[in-house]
Amino acid sequence: MRQATDTPSPPDHESDNVHAFIALGSNLDQPVKQLAQAVSALDGLPGTQVLRISHMYANPPMGPQDQPDYVNAVALIATCLTPGALLEALKGLEQSAGRLSTRVWGARVLDLDILTYGDRVLNTPVLTIPHPGIAERRFVLAPWHEIAPDARLPDGRLIAELLSSAPEHPLHIVAPPTISQKRH
Ligand code: ADP
Ligand code: MG
Repeated sequence: MRQATDTPSPPDHESDNVHAFIALGSNLDQPVKQLAQAVSALDGLPGTQVLRISHMYANPPMGPQDQPDYVNAVALIATCLTPGALLEALKGLEQSAGRLSTRVWGARVLDLDILTYGDRVLNTPVLTIPHPGIAERRFVLAPWHEIAPDARLPDGRLIAELLSSAPEHPLHIVAPPTISQKRH
């Protein structure tokens, strides 16, 4: 029988290890290299390990078409950072990669978005989790499904189902996962 002491601590506590899915994207300055560096940088964040990483998928831009094609991937991390601390850390990595402020859906050296953080649901002025727009973005759903075929959103929807009903969007693999997959 479970003892009261087995009850998990609150998920926003710094010492909890939470699984989060991160979307990576780039369409400037050698996108494949940018994503490979970003995976290493993610793995180097405090209290954070990259557990799985998808192949890299090239695809045409959403929104303004006067920009290069994107390369996208999804990573599964385990992290002790709170959602807010993780967001700040990701913004720090974007800045280090040389990202300048851009127009909405405009070209960028590196974009790192939190797709899910455990099964938390958050709506603050700076952070929306699950990330809005997941259901329309095949370039997020395909690599996510690749590394986690059974993954679900906190509301129970399967990533596989969202992928099967997402709008058409051409994708092709341009590079393998950049780190060996660790087993945990
Ligand atoms: P986008 O990724 O939509 O192209 P940006 O990368 O410029 O846009 O992010 C704009 C803002 O979105 C960030 O400053 C951040 O505060 C906010 N944001 C809200 N929810 C998330 C999330 N889940 N992951 C990353 N950023 C988020
Ligand atoms: Mg972003």
